[in-house]
Amino acid sequence: MGARILDGRQVAQSRRDRLEKDIANYKSMTGTVPGLATVLVGDDPASEVYVGNKRKASTQAGIRDFHRRLPAGASQAEVKAVLADLAAESDVSGILLQLPLPAGLDPTPLLEVIPAEKDVDGLTAASVALLTQGLPGLRPCTPSGVIALLDATGVEMEGKHAVVVGRSELVGRPLAQLLLQRHATVTIAHSRTIDLPGITCGADILVVAAGVPGLIGAEHVKKDAIVIDVGIHRTRGGLVGDVKFDEVEEIASWITPVPGGVGPMTITMLLENTFTAHKMQKEATVGIAASPMVSHHE
Ligand code: NAD
Repeated sequence: MGARILDGRQVAQSRRDRLEKDIANYKSMTGTVPGLATVLVGDDPASEVYVGNKRKASTQAGIRDFHRRLPAGASQAEVKAVLADLAAESDVSGILLQLPLPAGLDPTPLLEVIPAEKDVDGLTAASVALLTQGLPGLRPCTPSGVIALLDATGVEMEGKHAVVVGRSELVGRPLAQLLLQRHATVTIAHSRTIDLPGITCGADILVVAAGVPGLIGAEHVKKDAIVIDVGIHRTRGGLVGDVKFDEVEEIASWITPVPGGVGPMTITMLLENTFTAHKMQKEATVGIAASPMVSHHE
């Protein structure tokens, strides 16, 4: 029997429907709405599309749109000033600096201008520290989207062996932390791993974020494993992932398609982060301790 398809479009849509209602309820209770500031520097066409999609999705969810556009020739100081301005603006709940930046701009010091409570991408050093320590904070969107997909299977993560293929700061590392917080036993494989199939065949949950088309085939997967494919590659035949879907589908219990798996989850988690950030900021203002967003430690 083939695997069940873990439909990211469906999971994302149901979460967005719920979020839209939650934001509307919060508005009627408090008179406030979350605000998302997207900052786009230069005119990279792919970045323009990504930022456009994020703005559209957030507006649909009832989030106020604060967009700042800077020319490709903007200086480090100019970008920093815009971010500092947004950091100080109380109607802006979340700030997203679209990466990559044009050549000549260094993203690291710019990201650090974004305060942790507005870091809806979850990529600043402060957010990474909160995640690693298991403290409340905003988590990176793609890894959170993977956890939301795993939740949608209804399969308990606790005690399962989860293998993450990839150790990037954007996906692999934070995802391994999130899986640990769900009490999975986590192994991280990467480009220097010897005997990849030997490692991945032990996985009850296999998440692949290597950026190598078709890296994972039938020989890498244990029977009835849950397989999540984060990879996206444009080919002549359309979008493909890091997993050979047709072979692995025969073995896995659940599998994400590409497209329509992890991809639709990423923006959804950005919207959820923006609402979480808004609530934390409002509750902090009126003196209510922000509730922890994740369970952590033992
Ligand atoms: P990256 O290039 O920064 O990291 C890739 C990781 O994979 C590295 O840690 C590397 O060690 C490991 N790796 C490379 N080749 C390997 C091999 N042969 N065996 C084992 N490990 C290997 O990439 P990233 O930013 O983490 O993204 C990974 C993939 O996910 C890309 O295809 C990217 O396009 C995709 N992605 C998708 C989304 C989404 O929303 N769906 C978001 C982010 C990234």
